[in-house]
Amino acid sequence: MEPIPMRKPLIAGNWKMNLDRHAAIVLANAIAEAAEKIGNVEIAICPPFVYLDVVRQALGNSVVALGAQNMSPEPSGAFTGEISAGMLKDVGCKYVILGHSERRHLLGETDAFINTKVHAAIAAGLLPVVCVGELLADREAGKTAAVVGAQLEGSCAGLSPEQMAEVVMAYEPVWAIGTGKVASPEQAEEVHLALRKMISDRYNSQTAERVRIQYGGSVKPSNAAELLSQPNIDGALVGGASLRAEDFLGIVAGVK
Ligand code: PEP
Repeated sequence: MEPIPMRKPLIAGNWKMNLDRHAAIVLANAIAEAAEKIGNVEIAICPPFVYLDVVRQALGNSVVALGAQNMSPEPSGAFTGEISAGMLKDVGCKYVILGHSERRHLLGETDAFINTKVHAAIAAGLLPVVCVGELLADREAGKTAAVVGAQLEGSCAGLSPEQMAEVVMAYEPVWAIGTGKVASPEQAEEVHLALRKMISDRYNSQTAERVRIQYGGSVKPSNAAELLSQPNIDGALVGGASLRAEDFLGIVAGVK
């Protein structure tokens, strides 16, 4: 049997609807410069659609990967305002965030809809970062594993083991996103382990061992190292703290 490759942690910055063109270029340059000296972790930045192209140019030959924050499941056509997977690929994206809690809860995206995007992303050669996470009420009702399990099941339905192994999962408890409340390393590790077990049960242990599972929710330089030292936490999806180079790079430095 072939040895299972080590999971390389992925720290990804989700810039959301922030920054302007100039600030996006300045931030991308600062991250690209610092990334030259970093080898133990993969870094990605996910600017708003309209800045993807200039950020790609700012990154030049840098190892920093480009990601988008969303996409349409449709390949082309009369879908005013939408962006296809092929367009993201064309502009240099490697990753695309799908099923972020803000899209699930503010825009009503369902697991079935997210699943169509996951398939379209993979078909176009993009790596989806599939977000799952429970509401505070779910956690208090003891439903965390059931909620994230259903999201995993629905969002990743129909993927082959090979396709699943390439997916990046992001566990982002909704109560921790942008609130300053962070899951404890133990709380996060418990859910990451449960997700990996679900993938193992559904596919096999080799597939589960290859899937990277990021944590997201108020990650900062001060809490990153402890979270990232957990055995099943393979990086972070970072919102607020990804908007300042110093903070984002401080989180990257938390990977040991
Ligand atoms: C996010 O939106 O993916 C996120 C984790 O945000 P924040 O780091 O600001 O909590």
